[in-house]
Amino acid sequence: MLKVDGVTKYYGDFKAVDNLSFEVKPGEIFGLLGVNGAGKTTTFRMIMGLLDITKGNITLNGKKIDYDVTDKIGFLTEERSLLTKLTVKEQCIFYGVLKGMKEEDILKRTKELLEKFEIPEYLDKKIKELSKGNQQKVQFITAILNEPELLILDEPFSGLDPFNVELFKKEIVEMSKKGSMIIFSSHRMEHVELFCKKLVVLLNGKSVLSGELKKIKEQYRKKNILIKGDIDIKEIEKIAGVVTVTKKADEYEVKIENQDIVKDVFKYVSKCDNVTKFSVEEPSLNEIFVAKVGESYEK
Ligand code: ATP
Repeated sequence: MLKVDGVTKYYGDFKAVDNLSFEVKPGEIFGLLGVNGAGKTTTFRMIMGLLDITKGNITLNGKKIDYDVTDKIGFLTEERSLLTKLTVKEQCIFYGVLKGMKEEDILKRTKELLEKFEIPEYLDKKIKELSKGNQQKVQFITAILNEPELLILDEPFSGLDPFNVELFKKEIVEMSKKGSMIIFSSHRMEHVELFCKKLVVLLNGKSVLSGELKKIKEQYRKKNILIKGDIDIKEIEKIAGVVTVTKKADEYEVKIENQDIVKDVFKYVSKCDNVTKFSVEEPSLNEIFVAKVGESYEK
């Protein structure tokens, strides 16, 4: 288990991470989210042992993260960190050796992964000759070469087309099923929502929202109602507890304060003509994220 326990990081006088705690268990995919500058990269670097922690503790399976332990970690950074003059094979050998692997095992695993990611013909190609998306694949492959117990993925889908996003997703889910602990960071909330059962949202280094996604959604009382039919927006806006009514393509989205307002909206809609849809939806993670971060900014 990865345990981040009351961690604070100062850069000089500036507090970049403030008393952060969370746990990631084997098989879990955990979301670490936040706006730009919230403290995500700083947290990743502390987990990797690349930055000193000012206060608090980080342990992997009960051990402090030192040189030994980092062999069990894979880190896909947001920015490219490939040696572009090397071939894919040389690059993988370089990273694999750093992670304490034997050269023959590195080659076997590299070939397997290139096959999986549908670029086996690139083994002897120079990195600089590859497209952006294929470089991203190679970077991902280097991060998982050592079958890490803990895998940190910072914006893993950057530069990938939808087909390749699916390939990555499949591999990430497979790794979690085999027991890896995965930390996933992305600004694309629909990706986070797909993968992560638990998450923490950072703002100015502080957690402003954390826990199980399911519970977070239940506790966030606002709901959305989707309606198709001949309704009068103004009549719905008059109902107490209705926040906004928006026309979206061929349907209306009614945002309400809480579940209790559903019956009042339904009472009105049941009197309207041609109603073919009335559906109460959970808010998206994106909506909750924007609301929570906004609320915390106002404080
Ligand atoms: P992004 O989503 O933009 O990548 P982030 O959540 O990863 O952002 P960090 O890079 O961890 O954010 O930065 C957190 C805060 O710490 C920012 O205000 C940043 O300016 C500051 N910071 C980061 N590195 C340093 C440093 N070496 N010295 C001083 N301040 C730093």
